[in-house]
Amino acid sequence: MSVASRAPAYIRSIQPYQPGKPISELAREMGLPEADIVKLASNENPLGMGAKARAAAEAAIREAFRYPDGGAFALKAALARKFGVDAAQLVIGNGSNDVLEIAAQTFLAPGTSAVFSQYSFAVYPLATNARGARCIQVPAQAYGHDLDAMAAAIAPDTRIVFIANPNNPTGTFVGGAALEAFLAKVPEDVLVVLDEAYTEFLEPEQRYDSLAWLARFPNLLVSRTLCKAYGLAGLRVGYAIAHPDVADLMNRVRQPFNVSAVALAAAEAALGDDDFVARTADINRRGKQQLTDAFASLGLEWIPSAGNFVTVRVGDAAAVNLALLRQGVIVRPIAGYGMPEWLRVSIGLPEENARFITALRNALG
Ligand SMILES: *Cc1c(COP(=O)(O)O)cnc(C)c1O
Repeated sequence: MSVASRAPAYIRSIQPYQPGKPISELAREMGLPEADIVKLASNENPLGMGAKARAAAEAAIREAFRYPDGGAFALKAALARKFGVDAAQLVIGNGSNDVLEIAAQTFLAPGTSAVFSQYSFAVYPLATNARGARCIQVPAQAYGHDLDAMAAAIAPDTRIVFIANPNNPTGTFVGGAALEAFLAKVPEDVLVVLDEAYTEFLEPEQRYDSLAWLARFPNLLVSRTLCKAYGLAGLRVGYAIAHPDVADLMNRVRQPFNVSAVALAAAEAALGDDDFVARTADINRRGKQQLTDAFASLGLEWIPSAGNFVTVRVGDAAAVNLALLRQGVIVRPIAGYGMPEWLRVSIGLPEENARFITALRNALG
């Protein structure tokens, strides 16, 4: 008997997460200079990191020989001020991925289940399987969440429902009224993890106030990140806002120093940089138009996206992806999500989008 064979069956059957290919790796593989490679694969901020966040990170690195503030006092105070919540409602994560994992670790165990949609974020089955809990995957409706079917799928052993809004990898969006009606249907002992990783990219008419629902729905957890619109993907910071009892349990389960001192400092500064987030949303809006105009002229089908990426149907996506890689363009194939004809393209700077469009035109011959 090997050690590996003794790991629980639910661990051995986990399908690994497939990240976007790093620029350095493609450069090595194709013998291309890194500067010539365009990466539109991981929904990162094309503007980079905001100047305020960078300055705070640079200052914090000098003190990085010390352990971070495990209680994240300053960042929690900034979040509490910005969103009008209590610090006791907050859990800070090493990226919002960590928040999702901590929620799963806190509420899931063998003999329980989690509900999520087909074509939703790959971390939901990962986090569920890693606790030996059962996945209840609900068929999507037009590549998005079918909230009625999800409510109906909740079983007596269900402890968490995961909802990404906007959804990744499809970019679909459900409106506030539908979400609120869904929350009213969910049993009060089932945690609803509302994953708002892309909420800063919503158009004004799409916005809804999920934090206002927390008072009425103590089983709601809103998860957000500073990795996407705030430009801190490599530093890893996200947060949950929930009922204090839920946050308290999650804070007991998380690692005592789960977020680095540099990330905490950068996050606090980034939160105060509304101008950077506004510029990010603006360039995203224009880039989305640039991409979808190109898809229309190429006769390609795409899924209308509320996020900072667009998912487009290209036919043999594996072959098209390879042709793009040969031209130094990295996007994300999503066959692992059961969408083998589609590619997910992160929205970049205008010139990056143009490089992708030219490469796509070539790839499609
Ligand atoms: C990117 C993403 C996250 C997690 O991002 P972090 O970098 O860990 O903050 C969470 N949920 C969804 C739907 C995402 O697309």
